[in-house]
Amino acid sequence: MRPAPRLYIDAPLGEGAHALSPEHARYLGQVLRLKEGAELHLFNARDGEWVYTIAAMSKRGGEAEAQTQRRSPDPATDSPILFFAPVKRTQTEFLVQKATELGVVKLQPVLTARTIRDNLRIDRLESIAMEAAEQSERLTIPAICAPIDLKTLIDSPEPFVFCDEAGDQTSEPWGGSDGRAPLAPGTFQQTNQHPKGLLIGPEGGFTPEERDALRGCVHALPVSLGPRILRAETAAIVALTLWQASFGDLRSISS
Ligand code: SAH
Repeated sequence: MRPAPRLYIDAPLGEGAHALSPEHARYLGQVLRLKEGAELHLFNARDGEWVYTIAAMSKRGGEAEAQTQRRSPDPATDSPILFFAPVKRTQTEFLVQKATELGVVKLQPVLTARTIRDNLRIDRLESIAMEAAEQSERLTIPAICAPIDLKTLIDSPEPFVFCDEAGDQTSEPWGGSDGRAPLAPGTFQQTNQHPKGLLIGPEGGFTPEERDALRGCVHALPVSLGPRILRAETAAIVALTLWQASFGDLRSISS
């Protein structure tokens, strides 16, 4: 049997009836072909997840009746913020989907000299994040913020991880091997800081000036993600996984 559809609802959930919007009614009735009596799961961060059954449905909307609570709201946990320089549209959308699956609380676009600026559609990214949350059994939807400049991030006091693939020798490919940042896993284990966010650069990397500013920033923790140069979206997945393993919900109980 197909699992019940999971929909994010930004309205109170709980005992009683819930009105279905025309969009949800269309999706449930015409796309999924569900009939009255079918089960669906509605969720949000405040009320957790509830099992409902469809009580009435038409093209103009519908009604669902609450049955039981399936999950209580999640206790507050530490979740990372992803600071990312938008890349091409498809890759940015992929990055938003994967970062949502990996538990980010917020996605913050950061404009850098080499950032691709076109096609940053916040509303489209919000719906991708919502779908990824529905699919990955999250109760919360990460916020997608309006872009900020790199300088604003550098000037803010919160500690963050700077994913730095480069070395110091500007004449060498990828800056050579001198001045490379230490590997992320060891750095995360040893640091006394508790970085709240992770910064991933654009496809063309940071300019030497931007990298100098980041390396000079006391609350930016530079890390390497290994000896290969990763695409921005791969770097985001690797960095978030390592962050979750050290500071977040992939940490083993004993550490
Ligand atoms: N310098 C490059 C590649 C940029 S990769 C170029 O000129 O094309 C995009 C971003 O992914 C980088 O800015 C960095 O934040 C991250 N990244 C990629 N590989 C990495 C690695 N091995 N270690 C740390 N960060 C990495």
